[in-house]
Amino acid sequence: MLKINEIFYSIQGESSFAGYPCVFIRLAGCNLRCSYCDTRYAYDEGDEISIDSIMHTVKEYNCRRIEITGGEPLLQEETVNLARKLLNNQYQVLIETNGSKNINVLPDGVIRIMDVKCTGSGENDKMDWENLNRLNFRDEVKFVLASRKDYDEAKQVIQKYNLIGRSKVLLSPVEGMLPIANLAGWILNDSLEVRLQPQLHKIVWPEETKGR
Ligand code: SF4
Repeated sequence: MLKINEIFYSIQGESSFAGYPCVFIRLAGCNLRCSYCDTRYAYDEGDEISIDSIMHTVKEYNCRRIEITGGEPLLQEETVNLARKLLNNQYQVLIETNGSKNINVLPDGVIRIMDVKCTGSGENDKMDWENLNRLNFRDEVKFVLASRKDYDEAKQVIQKYNLIGRSKVLLSPVEGMLPIANLAGWILNDSLEVRLQPQLHKIVWPEETKGR
């Protein structure tokens, strides 16, 4: 059984899959409390649902791409079994994780989209830094930045772990805190080979209060 906050079908808003249709399985519970979190509703609310029942629900959507998200999906041990079952049923499986838990528990074939928390999140001391060494070319690393200080930190981490070329690197501004044009200018000025990442779903549905 997994504690599920919601299952829904939408446009992928982030990562290099932004713009593609995707079924989202949002797991309840998170071990962090980021200052800019837009999915606080997933901290506690959720129902216990079996993997078979989840499979039945996702099958109803005509979509082969599934993202497991949260909250923090790796807090629940059964997440690994859900990912394996989805892969065995020929789904493309993405997982969004906050970087605080060992990503190598996931089966091969899962595309891991991992946050690196900067100081502005208030949670950067919770990172499992060894995860940066566990990334492969399929994976994506996402920095959500609230300030120039966060940007400079991200650059240091990118350099220290030689991330460019090893995996995809995404930089996103915190909405309302860092104008995206500022971030674009810094990236261009530094000739940084990273992807600037607006939250596409918030452009499509700006009135939605939920993080989708
Ligand atoms: S890790 Fe994600 S879900 Fe958890 S508090 Fe941070 S932004 Fe929110």
